[in-house]
Amino acid sequence: MDNSCLFCRIVAGEIPATVVHRTETTLAFRDIDPKAPTHVLVIPVEHHADVVALATANPSAAADVLATAAAVAEAEGLTGDGFRVIFNTGAHGGQEVFHVHAHVVGGAPLGPMLA
Ligand code: 5GP
Ligand code: ZN
Repeated sequence: MDNSCLFCRIVAGEIPATVVHRTETTLAFRDIDPKAPTHVLVIPVEHHADVVALATANPSAAADVLATAAAVAEAEGLTGDGFRVIFNTGAHGGQEVFHVHAHVVGGAPLGPMLA
């Protein structure tokens, strides 16, 4: 755990979050500032800065993040009409929290790209 990391502190229960799904290796919780009717963040419980670091260091945890994203989409009723899974990565990717997270967004037509 990285004590200076917001999402590690959510994993540790030090900062509250609305958890919607939990596995041994992943946690899914609602985004505090949702950009769509459903906006859930899926993270590995292990700290990795971004999706490149995660996929390099622990490919199995990367697969677990995708499996949890799929479970969340199913549970939120998104799989029929479709949804989006996004890993913002680095400065140009608009990443603000450097504990890798998949955004699972849907519940309305999203257009060609998220703003
Ligand atoms: P990024 O820009 O790094 O891809 O996305 C970070 C996301 O984390 C943003 O969508 C932001 O709303 C969300 N976020 C930031 N702080 C918190 C928080 O304390 N709790 C929750 N649940 N989401 C947060
Ligand atoms: Zn972290």
